[in-house]
Amino acid sequence: MRIVRIEASVVQVELIKPYVTADSRKQGMTEKHSVVLRMFTDDGLCGIGESDPSPTFSPESPESVMQVIRHHTGPAVLGMAPDNLVALHVKMDSVVLDCPFAKAAIDVAAHDLLGQALGVPVYQLLGGQVRDQVPMIWPIGSGTPEDNAREAVTKVEEGYGSLHIKFGALGPEEDVARVKAIREAVGKDIPIMVDVNQGWDLSTAIRTIRRLEEFDLRIVEQPVPAWDLESMAKIQASVDLPISADESLYSPHRAMELVRRDAARVFSLKTGKCGGLFRTRQIAAIAEAAGLPCFVNSMIEMGISVAASLHLAASIPNLVEHGHALMSNLRIKDDILLPDSFRYEGRNILIPEKCKGLGIRLDEEKLERRTLDRFVLEI
Ligand SMILES: [Mg+2]
Repeated sequence: MRIVRIEASVVQVELIKPYVTADSRKQGMTEKHSVVLRMFTDDGLCGIGESDPSPTFSPESPESVMQVIRHHTGPAVLGMAPDNLVALHVKMDSVVLDCPFAKAAIDVAAHDLLGQALGVPVYQLLGGQVRDQVPMIWPIGSGTPEDNAREAVTKVEEGYGSLHIKFGALGPEEDVARVKAIREAVGKDIPIMVDVNQGWDLSTAIRTIRRLEEFDLRIVEQPVPAWDLESMAKIQASVDLPISADESLYSPHRAMELVRRDAARVFSLKTGKCGGLFRTRQIAAIAEAAGLPCFVNSMIEMGISVAASLHLAASIPNLVEHGHALMSNLRIKDDILLPDSFRYEGRNILIPEKCKGLGIRLDEEKLERRTLDRFVLEI
């Protein structure tokens, strides 16, 4: 079995509701461009992958991912066997440094291909299955305290058992008022985490997190810029709340550095950001060895990435107990997967049984209609 053809497309989808975060520069995101990759083998199989970079989140963009795949990683893996995941990553790392989002598209498609070829779910390739469903968290973008509290109540009534509140687009005073309003509206039993998306400096972070402790939060994610591990460590040493590393965590090397510095007590995992399933599973193992839990997170992404993260979540024993961000496809208007690709029980997403590979099906017509740009590489 050899990889003989790669098709990569930039796909545009719209969000149901504009999403305001510190890194969307306050105006709110209304649409998202993602890269969809289809990888074909000489025995007629097709694996699918997706990558969802955002240039305000990390250095890659959909356009840079397309260029890296077109000129570097794509030509490098053509002709290789997709059943040797280690060799695929060694090869990709030998032709381009870093670029985890670009490598993730090929990694996820290779896992899908290998699962299909062996007749097993992707989570089997990641070590096995330790749970049969995952609770979903609901993310709330920046807005007024009243609007945010209203949305929180609506989502809790819909069955979401935990909330993820975006911070950092507004000032700390306004953000504290928002979380106060949300906590009062949903009561004390709903786990709440907040995500600052690099929006604060060291002193603002320590001062504001101390004020947040009365609202019984579970996690504060990425309070300071991704590069500033020294401040991450100082914040974690100064407050009781666990600090989660998201933008700061994008490779196994970074995971080791965060552990060495005690700079985060939760690891936020995203298959794209971390270079695909193979590398993300390594990062989860580093967290497990350090005694840290992981939060399965998402970019604004379509169902292919959600499926990849779902298989990942199935295989990781050390997850935080509250919900995970496996709802991203529910925030976009028109996913490119066929509607039967996921099963839910309330607001839990179920791990697929007896599927081959990712266990999802593309809607070819939608993919075609939503494609802005495309290239093909062939042997
Ligand atoms: Mg985050």
